[in-house]
Formats: sequence, C-alpha cells, structure tokens
Amino acid sequence: MTTSFEPVIGLEIHVQLHSKTKMFCTCLNGMDESCGPNSEICPRCSGQPGTLPVMNEGAVRLGVRAGLALGCQINEVSSFERKHYFYPDLPKSYQITQNAHPVNGRGEIEITFGPKDKLQKKKIGIHHAHLEEDAAKSSHSGDYSLVDFNRAGCPLLEIVSMPDLRSADEAYAYLTEIKRLMQWVDASECDMEKGELRVDVNVSLRPVGQEKFGTRTEIKNLNSFKAVKDAINYEIARQTQVLNEGGQVVQQTLLWDKEHGFTKPMRSKEDALDYRYFPEPDLPPLILRKDRLEKIKAQMPELPAAKEAKFVALGLSAYDAGVLTLTRKTAEYFEQVLSCGAGAKAAANWITTDLMGLLNADKKDIGQSPVAAADLAELIKLVESGKISRNQAKTVFEQMYKTGAKAAALVEKMGLSQVSDEGQLFAWAQEAINESPKAVADFKKGNRAAVGALVGAVMKKSRGKANPRRMNEILVELLGK
Ligand code: ADP
Ligand code: MG
Ligand code: ZN
Repeated sequence: MTTSFEPVIGLEIHVQLHSKTKMFCTCLNGMDESCGPNSEICPRCSGQPGTLPVMNEGAVRLGVRAGLALGCQINEVSSFERKHYFYPDLPKSYQITQNAHPVNGRGEIEITFGPKDKLQKKKIGIHHAHLEEDAAKSSHSGDYSLVDFNRAGCPLLEIVSMPDLRSADEAYAYLTEIKRLMQWVDASECDMEKGELRVDVNVSLRPVGQEKFGTRTEIKNLNSFKAVKDAINYEIARQTQVLNEGGQVVQQTLLWDKEHGFTKPMRSKEDALDYRYFPEPDLPPLILRKDRLEKIKAQMPELPAAKEAKFVALGLSAYDAGVLTLTRKTAEYFEQVLSCGAGAKAAANWITTDLMGLLNADKKDIGQSPVAAADLAELIKLVESGKISRNQAKTVFEQMYKTGAKAAALVEKMGLSQVSDEGQLFAWAQEAINESPKAVADFKKGNRAAVGALVGAVMKKSRGKANPRRMNEILVELLGK
C-alpha cells in the first residue's frame, strides 16, 4: 500500500540589491565579466588585511524598501555577523551577513496561482529578510578555476519564507510575486540571466493529515523559474519513492543537474555551528531611527496588491488586473490612459491584448511603447464616441504603433471617420429598405434578425462608414412606421 504525502516547501531567495556601490566599499555594484574580470575591486572587497567595512546607506535603504514591500516588521536595531567558510570565492574566508538580528523581521505576501478563470490566492509567511554581501564568482574549466571578484561584496537581500508552500506551482507563484515586488520598489532588477535572483529550495514530505514536518532536503542555487519548478517536482517524486519503499529521507544539500533533470548530493548539511557565526567587530549595530524609517515609508510607491484591488473595483477581471500590475510601468501606463478619459475595460483590453502583443513581439517593455498613453486614450475615445469602429481602430492602432502618428490624424488620412450625419444615415437606410423587399417582409413577419441584412447592405453602400449601432436603431425606427 502507498501512503499519500503532502509536500512542504520553503524558499530562500537571494536578490542583488540595485544600489550604486557595493555593500561595504565604494566599488561599483553590478559589474559583470563583460566589464572585464576583477575590474571593480579594491583592498576592502578583495579582503586585504587591515581594511575595514563601511556600511552603504543606499543599500540599506533598498533593503528596507524591499522589507516594506514584503510586509515585514522593520527592526530598529539590527546587526551583522561573520559567517565563516573557506572557499576561493570568499577572500576574507568569512561573509558579513545578518544572522540573529536581521533588519527585516516577520512578514507576509499574497500569491496568485491556478488557471486563468479560477485564480486562487494564498498568504505566504516571510520568516525574515536579511542583508549580506555576495561572494565572488568562480568558473571552473578543465583543471583550473578562475575567480572574478567584481561580484564580491555586492549587496544581497536574502528573503527566507516560512514553510508555507505546498506545490511547485505555489513556489512558482511565490517566486513571481517576489520578483514583481522587488522590481516594483526598485530594490532589484532581478535579472535571472545575470544571477541577480538565486533560489535555494527546501522540500520535505509528510503523510497527509500529519502536522509534524518531515525531513527536508535543500536544493542550492537555482537560477531560473523553470529549474525551481522542475527541481521541486523531481524532489517530491524522489522522496515519495524513498518513503514508499520504506526508506528515510536523508537531510542533505543537493544540486540540480538541469541538463539531465535530477538532483545530486552536494555535501551533507553543515549545521549553524560549522559557520562559527560571531558578531562582526568592525561594524556597529545598524540603527534605523524612526524618522529615517518614516522617510523611507513616505517614498514607497503604492504596492501592486493595492493597485490590483483598485483595478478590480473598476470592473476588471482579477486576471486582467494581474496582467496590468505585472510591472509598475504597466500599471502607471494604464492609469494614465484612464486619466485621459478612456473607459477602464476598453483601456485594459487595448493594453493587455493589442499593445502587449506588439511589444512582446518586439521584445520591448511598456516604457518603450511607441504609442503614448494619452494617444491610446484618444483612440479609445474615438471608438467610444462612435467615430470609428473597433475593427477600424485596430488598423489605426497598428499604424500608430508603427509610425508614432496620432489617432485623429490617421483616421483623417485613412478616410475612416464614420459618418454621423443623420440625414445621410436616414437616406442610406431608406435606400436599403427600398432595395430589399424580402428582408422588410421577413422583419414585418416578426423576424427581428432580418434587420441585420439591411445593416449589412448599408455598410456596403457606405463602405463601412456608417455606425452600425446607430444604423440598427434607424432601420428599426423606419420599419416600425
Ligand atoms: P537553514 O538556515 O539551515 O537553511 P532554516 O530553518 O532557516 O534553515 O530554513 C530555511 C528554509 O527552509 C526556510 O525557507 C524554511 O521555510 C524551510 N524549511 C524549514 N523546515 C522545512 C521542512 N521541514 N520542509 C520544507 N521546508 C522547510
Ligand atoms: Mg538554508
Ligand atoms: Zn571594493
């Protein structure tokens, strides 16, 4: 007999904070190999004896912004410790990190997952989020290794979740939300290709109904969303098999072999003692005065969850509200279109389908949109006032996107403007009635759909310039006489 197990998952996410300089020196942050290896280093971040760390206020501010976005309790006093291990990418042989007293305490975020028409929401606890410095980057090839210290000392925020996730899909949604929040508050660009977001995944199983957690394994250093999902699913299947065969899961650290799709042991788990944590003697406690914190809070943008709720209140679906808040720029673009007088549903539709379709095809983000928000609003208003049809507007929009021209000018140039002169509309309607006795007879027999044939006839005559909605009304009026 096989038992059913419930997965329990917790994530530790490292995001590289987007500050100008490194965590404890004035070397530039965010340089990679393309700038030449070891081009942005100094005695401090390369671990020379006798140098002292100096805290980067900008990085602390970004860390606190991130903490506020994660709903964390911000600690007025936090402190740094040394975490020791010996490795060529760690010049001091210890990493300066926050351990017992992190700057960001307990928090909570809400994730959204599931199929488009049946979205589910769930709250996920944040255990804490702490500041630390990054290690250098080593690359191994053949019988030698190279170390690039450009990354050594760059500021990181490690976000540790509570073990609240129950599936790979939930973990994926959690990751998506973390990335959205970090980008939203400008804490990190989270460019995964540049390694600005790295994930350690903890997975355990417990029999369904049991409260006590099972033994976990930790998969280190995943650097894509897909790898996180695949590694979790693999590990769930592997542990299920071990348990069903009467075995026990061994607590260990694993690596994900993404080429072959399996996990392999990296080393048996060090416990905290192995790191010989002790207080960093060269840094005073980090004290965040209340007025400083208030200032940081005052500079926070409205968060995506609040914006989403606002958009739903305007009548949008939860799904569309989610798409429009994927990035802060998208949400702001949408709001600008609204502030220029366009309707919410129409604006959402144009942005999420037409505009994003073209932008995605061009690999552009909305900040690079050739159609300004105010110009899209003008186009929407032309449709809403009946000047042009939705179909005509599509053609106009494509031209706007291609040429950057304004809607009204294009409508004029393309000769699309719908005729709203009532005299002309009534004349066309009467002509169509005279020319289609069959449709008229059908209508009089009670077939109200017959009016559609007459509208079609008028559209032909007017070469698409009659407003079909108004034409319908006119025809019904004339036929009713
Ligand atoms: P460490 O610092 O040794 O990695 P922590 O106890 O701080 O361990 O937990 C790290 C991560 O592991 C957290 O995200 C936490 O939610 C998760 N976690 C802890 N226990 C379990 C468990 N039994 N199963 C799955 N995840 C767990
Ligand atoms: Mg860990
Ligand atoms: Zn430096």
